[in-house]
Amino acid sequence: MSFKVLVTDYVWPSVEPERAVLAKIGAELVVAPDGEEDTLAALAKDVDGILTCFAQVTDKVVRAAEKCIVIGRYGVGVDNIAVDTATELGIAVTYVPDYCVDEVSDHVMGLLLDWNRRISLFDNSVKGAGWGSVPLTMRIMRLRGKRLGVVGFGRIGRAVCEKALAFGFDVLAYDPFVTAERAAEAGARSVDMETLLRESDFVTLHSPLTPETENLIGAAELEMMKEDAFLINCARGPLIDEDALYDALQLGSIGGAGLDVLVDAHPSPDYRLLSLPNLLVTPHVAFFSQEAVLELEERAAGEVAAVLQGQMPDNLVNTPVLDHPNPRHALSI
Ligand code: NAD
Repeated sequence: MSFKVLVTDYVWPSVEPERAVLAKIGAELVVAPDGEEDTLAALAKDVDGILTCFAQVTDKVVRAAEKCIVIGRYGVGVDNIAVDTATELGIAVTYVPDYCVDEVSDHVMGLLLDWNRRISLFDNSVKGAGWGSVPLTMRIMRLRGKRLGVVGFGRIGRAVCEKALAFGFDVLAYDPFVTAERAAEAGARSVDMETLLRESDFVTLHSPLTPETENLIGAAELEMMKEDAFLINCARGPLIDEDALYDALQLGSIGGAGLDVLVDAHPSPDYRLLSLPNLLVTPHVAFFSQEAVLELEERAAGEVAAVLQGQMPDNLVNTPVLDHPNPRHALSI
């Protein structure tokens, strides 16, 4: 049997690890030259599976994929895939939810420590203006005993909590789907969103992007935060209203922000938020380590290979597809 799997995009050096996994079941890769909707829709027509990283696998692309039985996300969030369309057509969607929990939680602590210890600021000033070029007038906190608010207490939120506890933080958690007992077992105190925002010195976002969480942090929420609070987002850009954040950072109504993700996945260098001195930014790299990416490539390809062979994948996103009256996949519960 031979299969074709479309790779819409990837951000690592090569697709050899996924090629090797899929070759074992006789599947060949078709790598898209760009992630434009028309390009993907044209290439999707005769493939059996799709692997996607950040490219938008829209309703149009999914409908064009007439033979496709599985769409695999290289990663955690599936907000770039028209999952409802896939479910309607009987196409399975898979993901790899836990390949970079260590990396993202390290990145959160990295942004937090960089900001609080002003490591990037001191590094730039020593190299640009010499030793002793910055007066010690800025607010640097002793972290022990400070409060960290974790919004979204899932895999990554809990890993951040574990690391923060080692620094002596008092951890608050807000998650409408996690019980107070579960939060307490992890060492956090479950509170409502307003209490978390008002009481935390650092706030870090770890919820998925859904219609409910879009603009989770807007002007009203920023207004509730402490004047020297630091807001971290290593989840998804649209969780924050960036116009409101720009105003808050410029007016100094919060201390600063550390973002690994922005609303626009490819912001222009003159985007006004990027000009602010109290913003630390990294280009959506929190997931990255050589180990994480190799694991991601192999597991994402393994999920697609499983569905192509009629085997249940480890992480099926759209479980209702199992009840589809006329599914394209051959999975059964
Ligand atoms: P997870 O599913 O384990 O946890 C998400 C948590 O958010 C769940 O506990 C859920 O109950 C909670 N949640 C849902 N709606 C909420 C709401 N309205 N308010 C507060 N909490 C809510 O996911 P995870 O693995 O911890 O990933 C979290 C986020 O990190 C996702 O958005 C993912 O896309 C993002 N992520 C980013 C990177 C990166 O490189 N920057 C890498 C991996 C994951």
